Amino acid sequence: MPEGPTVRRFCSLVSPFVGQQVVKVGGRTKQIALQDLMGQWIQECQVHGKNLYVAFGSDVRHKAPSANIQELDDDHSKKESVDVSVTTTSPDDLGPWENEEASPRCKWLRFHFGLYGSIRVNELARARQGNKKGDWKDPTPRLILHFSAGGFLVFYNCRILWCSSPHVEPTCDILSLDFDKEKALRALSGPRPVCISLMDQRHFSGVGNIIKNEILFLAQVHPLSLGSLLPADTLRAVIDHAISFTARWLRIKMQREPLHYSIYMKELCPKGHKVVKETIGPPRGLQRLTWYCPTCQERVQPEERA
Ligand SMILES: [Zn+2]
Repeated sequence: MPEGPTVRRFCSLVSPFVGQQVVKVGGRTKQIALQDLMGQWIQECQVHGKNLYVAFGSDVRHKAPSANIQELDDDHSKKESVDVSVTTTSPDDLGPWENEEASPRCKWLRFHFGLYGSIRVNELARARQGNKKGDWKDPTPRLILHFSAGGFLVFYNCRILWCSSPHVEPTCDILSLDFDKEKALRALSGPRPVCISLMDQRHFSGVGNIIKNEILFLAQVHPLSLGSLLPADTLRAVIDHAISFTARWLRIKMQREPLHYSIYMKELCPKGHKVVKETIGPPRGLQRLTWYCPTCQERVQPEERA
């Protein structure tokens, strides 16, 4: 099995392609949609444990947080743009409240190489011996990335998954297939307003202000309802919406299409009710603008507990 040092060597093979654009994609993987990588630029690569992480972006090496925000939030008010901060590299910056909307911006691919995984540069692996039938069959690449400068990278026998950041525990990463829904449910069912629990990056890494507003509307939950007063099924619905909304957003961002919001920064909800905008946050934490429809998202009061 490729251990840390081998994966580091894989990283050194990928590094020369940082700053290059993917112009053609191939391979047999079913774990990601190949077209999502078309036209993307490799931003950087990192190794953590036995995993290789490669960041993709829609332009050349936009690592400056301000540039990211400008690009993605050009339809947002300045107020919302200035109080977000994006981090893609430093683990110290990934505390609660800080990696606002990290998942749709970061677009990291995590490669795990299993027992026999490998990477080739500018060449395909050839069969070293015949199989039991005596056939000489070359290994099938999981992923091939061709770059604008003419080179190509080939990935064999690896698990490929999107994730929010290399520094996030996969069980807390809303984009990861390993996201632990039961753990998230426990975090959400505490005696705190759900809108505050959802922004806690220790449990919902990748969820930011836009996702929070949208999924609470989709689940018809008032942002100030306490998690401890809501039925488990309702909290599960919030978590399911968080997962599906974030995945859809990533997909849309990769295809560079605009995302349409239901409640975030809206005057009226989709049913035509007047939307309330309120600043909500923990007592000593960052206060965030929160949009909700008081008609569609009724607040559960303590005495109404089912
Ligand atoms: Zn409404």
